[in-house]
Amino acid sequence: MASRPRITAARVLAGAACAMLLPAVSQASAPGHQAPRLSHHAAIRTVRHGAVAGELIVRFAPGVGAARRAHAAAVAGVSLRRWLGTRGLWLVHVRPGRTAARAARALERSRGVRWAQPNRYVSLNATTPDDPMFAQDWGLDNTGQSVQSATGTADADIDAPEAWDQTTGSANVVVGVVDTGVDYTHADLAANIWTNPGETGGGKESNGVDDDGNGYVDDWHGWNFGLGTNDPIDLVGHGTHVAGTIGAAGDNGTGVAGVNWNVQIMPLRVADANGALSDAGVAAAFAYAGRMGAQVVNASLGGSYTSSAELAAINGAPNTLFVVSAGNSNQNIKTTAVSPCTLPAANVVCVGATGPTDARASFSNYAPTQVDIAAPGVNILSTLPGDQYGYYNGTSMASPHVAGVAALVFAAYPTRSVAAVEAAILNGADRKTALTTYFASGRRLNAAGALAVAAIPPPDAALASPSSVTAASATLNATVNPHGRAATWLFNWGLTSAYTSHTSQKVTAAATSDLPVAAPLTGLVPDQTYHYELVVTTLSGVTTTGDATFTTPGAAPIVTTGTAYWTYQTQALVAGTVNARNAATTYWFEYGPTAAYGSETDDLPLDGGVKAVPVYGNITGLASHTTYHFRMVAQNAFGTAYGADRAFTTP
Ligand code: CA
Ligand code: CA
Ligand code: CA
Repeated sequence: MASRPRITAARVLAGAACAMLLPAVSQASAPGHQAPRLSHHAAIRTVRHGAVAGELIVRFAPGVGAARRAHAAAVAGVSLRRWLGTRGLWLVHVRPGRTAARAARALERSRGVRWAQPNRYVSLNATTPDDPMFAQDWGLDNTGQSVQSATGTADADIDAPEAWDQTTGSANVVVGVVDTGVDYTHADLAANIWTNPGETGGGKESNGVDDDGNGYVDDWHGWNFGLGTNDPIDLVGHGTHVAGTIGAAGDNGTGVAGVNWNVQIMPLRVADANGALSDAGVAAAFAYAGRMGAQVVNASLGGSYTSSAELAAINGAPNTLFVVSAGNSNQNIKTTAVSPCTLPAANVVCVGATGPTDARASFSNYAPTQVDIAAPGVNILSTLPGDQYGYYNGTSMASPHVAGVAALVFAAYPTRSVAAVEAAILNGADRKTALTTYFASGRRLNAAGALAVAAIPPPDAALASPSSVTAASATLNATVNPHGRAATWLFNWGLTSAYTSHTSQKVTAAATSDLPVAAPLTGLVPDQTYHYELVVTTLSGVTTTGDATFTTPGAAPIVTTGTAYWTYQTQALVAGTVNARNAATTYWFEYGPTAAYGSETDDLPLDGGVKAVPVYGNITGLASHTTYHFRMVAQNAFGTAYGADRAFTTP
């Protein structure tokens, strides 16, 4: 993009960045003047491991009310401390004299408790920040400049100026920042801080009343889950840095610009007074963001365990995209639990970090399955508390680039689903050969690419009635509008909506109108209800129709007359086969001296199988030296079937 003219907005950004950076250069280069080291450096290094003493997270079963919760808690020797915002999810305190492990076992013995787990500490995924000094936001637009003594590769960036040609964000998009808080007074952030309409105006901000009934009093600009207050201020720096990457105000003549120039940052502080974060706080913040309508959450944090609490909260917020960091241990986490990164939820995107030459950052965790995508995370310049700016490294810095692009896509295409936005991010990113072994998509984020993919909606799909339905076969029909892209499609089908079979995958033309698609099914059985759905995939996402059913017509049995395999003077044993065609059936043999028969054996029942089974008859009262005719007969609700005529002669 370097050769083509930029829009005005991009030029304004460049000017703004310089205006901010020049004082920092003069400060750093002034003789005898140390560049300021910020107090939060030490705090970021304070990483706590293990479990929070005396606390457990408990998931009660659905329908367990207050009385049963209180009873289970009393029996286990714990007290209910705080609801975590997801149904049945509670933080409990273990009473003195009891161990947490013993209390957890006691809780799990209770019928109303699904599980009880330690409330573990959560780590931030930023490394130590470097001294403030001159540089540029190479991750947004890389011209090959030298940043913090590292020379970059031109265009090893997320193409932010190209994306800003289309959108610079929207105040209608809310991004929850689950972190150490946000310095919401920062000159580059104040304009983009979320306000809760239900707790704003007429003094609702400070009246001590939970005006919007969401369980939090006066939560007018986020919440502090670490301290249980309505002040999510950041005293650490990490969350303020993350927030600036997502949405530092652009075109305001100050500091840096975020991926979004306009957005609503919802500060959700999890850090306690010591800067420590816990699983319970993260889970409660996730639930809050989902409930309060955040389209995107950024969580630049993690713990080396599977968090059932975070998973429950994420599953409870299906309309929120959770963008999370992979961690900074330079580890393949394919077989290592890292929450929330490796949690099995469709609405989680896990992000690793790349540097200014598009190589994986030396610290970045990776996994060719769980870590979805990479984004810039080395020497990232962003906002810090107290109107400061500085460089941080970490997957913590990569994740907010992706969260920011998700917000840009929601700004430009407000009706896209979470899944569609995720598809746009992954399919619109730049494929890098060197990243394929590390990240599931093998790609580094590209904001303009994501918008280009999102410009085309996911395919439309509508089922039509099945045709040519017989007792043994049918043709499934639907229409697909792939919106100009070739779409792959198939039908899932089976006896239940669990669908045990699927039709072969086909590809549509790249049309912009409804295309008929059809797939034949064979090997069906009569009088049977089948379930089916259509799944259509393009770069822009996957569209699945609802479940539909059709029922094959019932059919009369199929019979064959066999042989008289044993004959005596007065008796014969005869054979045949009957296919009941999936209906309750009775069968018998007709016999007599001529093909007019006249006599028959007793009716016998046959369960409604779908295969020909051998059956036998016993014909008695015959005369010797006489020829008899016989045939197989079977009947179900759909008709009567007759086998061929056969004959035997008694000895
Ligand atoms: Ca570029
Ligand atoms: Ca409230
Ligand atoms: Ca209030």
